[in-house]
Amino acid sequence: MPSSFYNTTTLNHPFSGSRGKELFEELGKDYIALQFYWDDYGTSNPLHTSTASLYKMTGCYFRILNLPLALQSTYEHIFLAFLAYAKDLDENLQYALSQTVILQLKKLEREGITLLVNEQEHHFPVVLFNVVADNLGLHQVFGYKRYFAGGKVCRMCLIPYDQIKVTTRIPPNMLRTASSYDNILQNGDAETIRIAGLREQSALNKLIFFHVQENPSVDMMHDLPQGHLRHLAALVLNELPNYDRVYQAIRTFPFHGKDAFNIPRPAQREQLKDELKGMTANAMLTFIRFLPLILRNIQIPRVNTSWGLLLKMEEILDILLGYHFTEEILQDLQRKIEEYLRIYIQRRGKEIIFLLQWKNVSKDFKKNDIVVFAQEGREPTFGRIEKQDDDGNYTLSKLRTINFVSNLHCYKVAETGQFVLCRAPAFLIFDGMRLYHGSFIRLPYSLFCESFVL
Ligand SMILES: [Zn+2]
Repeated sequence: MPSSFYNTTTLNHPFSGSRGKELFEELGKDYIALQFYWDDYGTSNPLHTSTASLYKMTGCYFRILNLPLALQSTYEHIFLAFLAYAKDLDENLQYALSQTVILQLKKLEREGITLLVNEQEHHFPVVLFNVVADNLGLHQVFGYKRYFAGGKVCRMCLIPYDQIKVTTRIPPNMLRTASSYDNILQNGDAETIRIAGLREQSALNKLIFFHVQENPSVDMMHDLPQGHLRHLAALVLNELPNYDRVYQAIRTFPFHGKDAFNIPRPAQREQLKDELKGMTANAMLTFIRFLPLILRNIQIPRVNTSWGLLLKMEEILDILLGYHFTEEILQDLQRKIEEYLRIYIQRRGKEIIFLLQWKNVSKDFKKNDIVVFAQEGREPTFGRIEKQDDDGNYTLSKLRTINFVSNLHCYKVAETGQFVLCRAPAFLIFDGMRLYHGSFIRLPYSLFCESFVL
């Protein structure tokens, strides 16, 4: 329940963030929080052309943020709000919403829901917490303009397209506010609305406890793996001498385990232009995450600052993909991003947007998975899973952590020959990792918390 997160300083759940705490203050009691998820998908493509937008459908689903995190990511606990023919929604989206889901959400805000807990009746308000979608979906639902090639393209600030590319820090007076959003849409003429990057008042703003401008969501997949990281990858690869060796190193890298689900394929030098295309978001994340290790035998020129940029990006990704944040970590993230952007803009000058996202919990461990089962300060202690017994206990062979090799952005470990018995909930990392070249482990994100409770 939101009240149990009210006094926490570790950000590890939506309720521990400012939105969760402000709602708790506003309502004065615990509440049920709904998260809506919105996306378009193609149903059929009779002519086998690459796109068949004519048949697109819009799916809207929701989940209940009060449920345990492990349940929230299962199909049984993701509920359908509605399905619609995308073309029907296109022109009259806000009206269609205001006649359907908004009516339901308003009723839930007004009347709430009564639940039986331990044979006692409890009454809770039910509120819309946030909306998750890709950039285009968010712009549609939230009433911003629907194209990104110029003008005011950002949902959070008023910095125009050309300047976003050379900005490392947003001046506070350039941030959008709920009152400026409302003011422009209520009083502005068509031209003022257009210049502000807006289109129409969002039907979601009819709710008492939700305003689109105060609850921005981010689209990490399009902003990073399918956006900025493509440019960074091209920048780094283009500057390396002897591309044939680079190509071979990528082609022959022994990805295994979960890392092998989305193996990045190398691109021919001629295909490497401004950006590295053709990789799925997952393959791109795997590629960037392992690139220092993949190229460990390639001589990197010292003057090559794009390599320094890559290592800085590894640090940023380690924070972004983590499960736990504190105010200090977020300030550190802000500093790292500003420094990264300064260097990147000097070299290139392309748009970049970063954001935070929560990861799903995975407790699926297999033989040979590398796990973190203890931590000394910030140094992780690794083990390799040998077997699991029927009670869920794992036998691990313990690995000794030698050091963190910063130019590979990996931990170096050695076998100890010792075994330890461990329960899965004691693991400090939710995914199983892999050992490379007998001694290197790429931790997928930073371990910040000295004491770690699941
Ligand atoms: Zn912005």
